[in-house]
Amino acid sequence: MKYHSTRGEAPILEFEDVLLAGLARDGGLYMPESWPEISDEDMAALAGVPYAELAVRIMSPFVGKALSEAELGDIASRAYESFSHAAVAPVSQIGSNEFLLELYHGPTLAFKDLAMQMLGGLFDHVLKKRDRHVTIVGATSGDTGGAAIEALRGRGSISVFILHPHGRVSDVQRRMMTTVPDKNVHNIALEGNFDDCQAIVKALFNDHAFRDRTSLGGVNSINWARVMAQIVYYFAAGLVFGAPHRAASYAVPTGNFGDILAGFAAKQMGLPVDRLIIATNVNDILSRTLDTGEYKVEGVVPTSSPSMDIQVSSNFERLIFEACDRDAGEVRGLMSSLSQSGAFTLKEKVLAKIRQDFDAARADEREVAETLQSVYETTGRLIDPHTAVGLAAGRKVAQGSAPLVTLSTAHVAKFPEAVKEATGVTPGLPPHLEGLMHRDERMSILPNDVAAVRSYIEDHL
Ligand SMILES: *Cc1c(COP(=O)(O)O)cnc(C)c1O
Repeated sequence: MKYHSTRGEAPILEFEDVLLAGLARDGGLYMPESWPEISDEDMAALAGVPYAELAVRIMSPFVGKALSEAELGDIASRAYESFSHAAVAPVSQIGSNEFLLELYHGPTLAFKDLAMQMLGGLFDHVLKKRDRHVTIVGATSGDTGGAAIEALRGRGSISVFILHPHGRVSDVQRRMMTTVPDKNVHNIALEGNFDDCQAIVKALFNDHAFRDRTSLGGVNSINWARVMAQIVYYFAAGLVFGAPHRAASYAVPTGNFGDILAGFAAKQMGLPVDRLIIATNVNDILSRTLDTGEYKVEGVVPTSSPSMDIQVSSNFERLIFEACDRDAGEVRGLMSSLSQSGAFTLKEKVLAKIRQDFDAARADEREVAETLQSVYETTGRLIDPHTAVGLAAGRKVAQGSAPLVTLSTAHVAKFPEAVKEATGVTPGLPPHLEGLMHRDERMSILPNDVAAVRSYIEDHL
């Protein structure tokens, strides 16, 4: 498989180089040249297959010749054996036609583990083969950082620098990053918000001299390999609901648009998908864009679902690329308008194309609290605030008979304050994390300044 940048001015690469590159050199994001298709017959044969095997089946066309099926299988089984549920991504029912896809059974209790555990193994394999070292720099709104650190800690060929917005992630989220003692792990608490962290990471990638000097690599969902690994659980869920014969709708709590883009990819590969529902909290740039066609950056408001407190939604660029029939010139135009004026407007035709597959809705803090309460009252279950955003938004727009599957992106114990406030119940951490709140923390607080972050990284390599 070959990969093209959404902006059309970077080299065309094979999988291994896309994995190591992260962001394309023209500032764009890599996309597979075509969508591999899974026939109905092949899909039907995947029902009941263990998750790691399904992962190999879905990912191997994207990986191409870079790894053999046996090597990929080896990485996948190691990646998913650390999950606390045998199904890895089980589906549970919470209403007559409402379901949760539970994506929080990994080591750091959020859906990021599903891709990141895979990414850790892939990086290790490729770096050993090439006898190379990489410097991973990533931005986190809370969960990516912990998942990346857990997947990459102690790996000799990788140094990891994670930027999180200082004071804007939950205690559990922060401690999952800062209590890891491995020497290859560095935490930067940036005096800014998530968008500032992401902007600094992008600026470092666009500084080609620094990028080459440090062998920079990325673990944000700008890295195609992450999106690829997330396609798998849409198939896992779809098969539960009778794919290829029956479709489901998916409500996806969305920030950087990586998770829901994987659902779009699954649909392109042949999975029957009724609606893809973009669920946002009050940081609703994406639901506004679907309403009006104008993508306009506004200030970030902190909410009880901090992993979605985002305005610049990087992977949306990948969808735009698809919706304008892969016209990289058009994408470049929109992105330069975004960097100059903080906004762009989609053509009517492009917007119509997006609306064929997607709906969008937002949930405010009161609706999130009400959803947490109603689920607790009717099922006795606690859900996390991100999941509640997904469910609330899904309930607003879902129609028809297709099952409504909300992606449950985090374990409730990661956000105990919001859950307690809404339901009166304080969720406890699972046993493997019991000591977390008492371990020593390590992090450096840095100003919101690219130069400061750049020299910090060079000093600590
Ligand atoms: C990262 C995250 C999201 C948003 O996912 P994107 O891929 O950025 O859209 C939603 N919920 C949780 C718990 C997350 O960690």
